[in-house]
Amino acid sequence: RNSLIWFRRDLRIEDHAALHHALLSSRRVTAVFVFDTDILDGLPPDDRRVQFIHESLRELDARLRELGGYLIMRRGRAAQEIAALAAELDAESVFANHDYEPQAIARDRAVAEALRRDGRSLQTFKDQAIFEKDEVLTLAGGPFSVFTPYKNAWLKRLAAEPQAMLPFETVPHAAALAPTPAGHAMPGLAELGFTPHPQPVPDAGMSGARRTLDAFMERLPRYDRERNFPALDSSSRLSVHLRFGTLPVRALVRLLREKIDDGSGGAGAAVWLSELIWRDFFMMILYRHPRVATQSFKQSFDALQWEDGDAADALFAAWCAGRTGYPLVDAAMLQLNRTGFMHNRLRMVVASFLTKDLGIDWRRGERYFALRLNDYELSSNNGNWQWAASTGCDAQPWFRIFNPVTQSRRFDPDGAFIRNYLPQLAGLEGTAIHAPWLARPAALERAGVVLGRDYPLPVVDHEQARAKSLARFRALRGE
Ligand code: FAD
Repeated sequence: RNSLIWFRRDLRIEDHAALHHALLSSRRVTAVFVFDTDILDGLPPDDRRVQFIHESLRELDARLRELGGYLIMRRGRAAQEIAALAAELDAESVFANHDYEPQAIARDRAVAEALRRDGRSLQTFKDQAIFEKDEVLTLAGGPFSVFTPYKNAWLKRLAAEPQAMLPFETVPHAAALAPTPAGHAMPGLAELGFTPHPQPVPDAGMSGARRTLDAFMERLPRYDRERNFPALDSSSRLSVHLRFGTLPVRALVRLLREKIDDGSGGAGAAVWLSELIWRDFFMMILYRHPRVATQSFKQSFDALQWEDGDAADALFAAWCAGRTGYPLVDAAMLQLNRTGFMHNRLRMVVASFLTKDLGIDWRRGERYFALRLNDYELSSNNGNWQWAASTGCDAQPWFRIFNPVTQSRRFDPDGAFIRNYLPQLAGLEGTAIHAPWLARPAALERAGVVLGRDYPLPVVDHEQARAKSLARFRALRGE
């Protein structure tokens, strides 16, 4: 029988669950990727992620060709394109990997329905998580809503079921790939209606993922000590690869297990494994509680009175543009705007600043991140924004509010990260870089900085903002 393998967020050949199953159960397997207009119509034509995907698909097509196959690329609505292509190629089944986002689930339902009407089927498999859906449950059989016990149960399950991290063989079964038609060529970005991004995109594709991983292995043993310091840039930068599946999470967990067992991963390996478990955790939360996509995990927090109106809009615009007057917050936002990446510690700082210092609804910040982050992932973005806003599961308690200046002193102690993004402040010495408005006039003069001209004065006073935030949460509790 003929089948289609529908690539979505799993842009690789090796260790691929759906491809494995398709190759084993079909006579002829054709690969397809759909640039889904339901998603893309809301994005600018030079979106960096589209370019990353396109570059990754080029490599995917090249690898498929080496194995005797090829990749078909379409632009349109997934349900129509997939159903039409399945009919055209007389594919009995379409194979794909699970996706846990509410819109993706609705899309897959529509595709399955369209295929069914035509006597065909959609078959889906777990691939992007180690444990998904209901696989890790509390002793009482319910879903976890606190991370640490979830993590312990996750680790226990992996110990009992190590096959969850084993690779899905594909290449040895490549003979089932449908042969490359004569004259097959991949459409370029422009033919698909996109334009390249003016700034560099992350090293894409399976080979980019491999290079990124290899470079990180040297830093892994120090990850526990260095991960919180943005200037050291010591985290893996693999998030975009996990997002688009140019690397399977199983391979990372296998590698970590080896490094934890033989001691070569140092203290960093176990901490890094925890981060990957956070990823599974938030995918599970989104799957079990799809309403969190638009509402607070803790429902009572939906009644919070966030700031709105012109003043709030102006503050939001200052936050987006990196013009709040708090150097660490601003440098972080410039990192996001320029590179499409932001360090994890800084994501926590700016999310706290938006929701607690500016009193702005976390959903506005979440949307902004969704537009800008190369690694944007609904589950992790939503889970972490709700963590910072104190509305989520296992969230930061509402009465613990980050002080942006203290965070700056602690995590960018010599101001190296700030200086990189805010060169106009580079001449400030000592601690003045963390709070220029507190610097002596002589120090500002020496550094050639005029506040309000070269760099903004703070848009809010942290102590006043903190008091306002506490009052906002207390009002909710009727205090
Ligand atoms: P590393 O430190 O090397 O971590 C390895 C991997 O673990 C990451 O690639 C990621 O897949 C996973 N991971 C790490 N931290 C977390 C976490 N807190 N939650 C879930 N998974 C995690 N991550 C995204 O992938 N997409 C997002 O849209 C996203 N939005 C975020 C928004 C906010 C407000 C915050 C505070 C965090 C967000 N994160 C998001 C989590 C985290 O910041 C990024 O995964 C990390 O910075 C990516 O860099 P890295 O690959 O070098 O991470």
